Amino acid sequence: MFRELSTDTVYAYPNAALLGNTACLRALSDSRADTGWGGSTAVYVHVPFCASLCQFCGFAKSTDLRREVLNRFVDQICAEIDLTAAQLHFTGRRISALYFGGGTASVLTPAMIERILTKLTDTFRFEADAEMTFEGECRSLSRRGYLEEVRNFGFRRVSFGVQTMDETFREILNLKPSVADLGLLRGRAEALFDEVCIDFIYGWPGLGRGHLAADIRALLDVIAPTSIELFRFEKLEASPKFLQCLYETGLRDLDTATLLAQYADAQKCFVEAGLPQVSYSKFSRDGHSLNYDESYSAHFYGFDNANVLGFGRGAQSFVDGRMWSFGLQEHEHAQLLQQGVLPIGIFATYRRDEREAVSWPRRGHIGADVVARYRDPEYPARLQALLRAGYIMRNEDAYQLTERGWLWVPNLLHYLMPRTQRRHFRRDELQGLIEGRHEASSDPAALMPLVRMRGQYKAVYV
Ligand code: SF4
Repeated sequence: MFRELSTDTVYAYPNAALLGNTACLRALSDSRADTGWGGSTAVYVHVPFCASLCQFCGFAKSTDLRREVLNRFVDQICAEIDLTAAQLHFTGRRISALYFGGGTASVLTPAMIERILTKLTDTFRFEADAEMTFEGECRSLSRRGYLEEVRNFGFRRVSFGVQTMDETFREILNLKPSVADLGLLRGRAEALFDEVCIDFIYGWPGLGRGHLAADIRALLDVIAPTSIELFRFEKLEASPKFLQCLYETGLRDLDTATLLAQYADAQKCFVEAGLPQVSYSKFSRDGHSLNYDESYSAHFYGFDNANVLGFGRGAQSFVDGRMWSFGLQEHEHAQLLQQGVLPIGIFATYRRDEREAVSWPRRGHIGADVVARYRDPEYPARLQALLRAGYIMRNEDAYQLTERGWLWVPNLLHYLMPRTQRRHFRRDELQGLIEGRHEASSDPAALMPLVRMRGQYKAVYV
């Protein structure tokens, strides 16, 4: 059924076209919340700053870490929280999970983190056992006393990137921390937090299965992680200049067969090393993953009707059938906040159960009752086709992925979307441009149309 692995990862569903602030705000206030779902709500704080830029990363971020810039950012987050609570009527909403991510949340000082936490707890009602996650970067997390401060704020889960252990590739990717420092940080964090998760990437251009096997061996030996988030290298997210360097060096993208084999190899290695698979991308030693299925992925991918309220430029919110994003340009975002207006740049509505009906392959299973409630007329036929082709199977009260299905999760997400949404997720044109350019020219200036075009897509894809 699927021949090529989708080059595009669906990070969050649904998506929508840019509407602009006024149209978004009008649409948001005109729309009716689909309430009474009983799903929990998380808060996500997006900190779009990094000390240095990793070449593969497409997240919105800046390297301007001056104290006044970061303080202004914290002021803006507090204003967003106030305006969202007041204008969208969320004051006092019950919150069951909190995530600080980015970018790099660890560029913030403890005093800045405390200001945001105080604003959040003054505005919303946090459950006593709310899961709190802090995503950072090795060098800033390793500052003296920093991890302890983060733990004292109540964060119980911490995560940071390793990506690859290969020193040459680390240099090419501009990954600054040494492998030894990453191992030390993992050990120190493990003593303080209930879960310490590291990010790891496979599918680097030109690096085959043998290379990945060696990379994973080094990861397990030196870092010995207890939780791993496994991602595939996404060339549509990488910097065009970096791609050009790779291609000029003669490295080429891996084909679908190699990518599928690498995912299966990684799956096998992690499971054999005592890290069972928790979801499409997560592997975790027993007892070392918080209620990930019920919490982190539930909120971001919409399982069990969970909601997420996002703050920070680029953050998305999915609450009670309405999705919006603070996706405007930086100056416009700041200006609107000063005027007391929510800087919303993207808006969409979705129906009850739709997010979960599309995203469930990430978790690997979905209740038959959820499927029965979902009302897209084309959906049952799609599930039947997947059953016939052996990607999924059905037991008494659930559908679940087969071994084959786990390999094709990116394609399954696209396949299960309603037609009207699929067009927002197609970037074939962009892909063609990347491939065409590196053949046609070695002049970085020739890549500018791509950079601009990617900028537009990023606005939709934040
Ligand atoms: S991978 Fe993390 S640290 Fe690196 S640029 Fe992206 S957000 Fe920043």
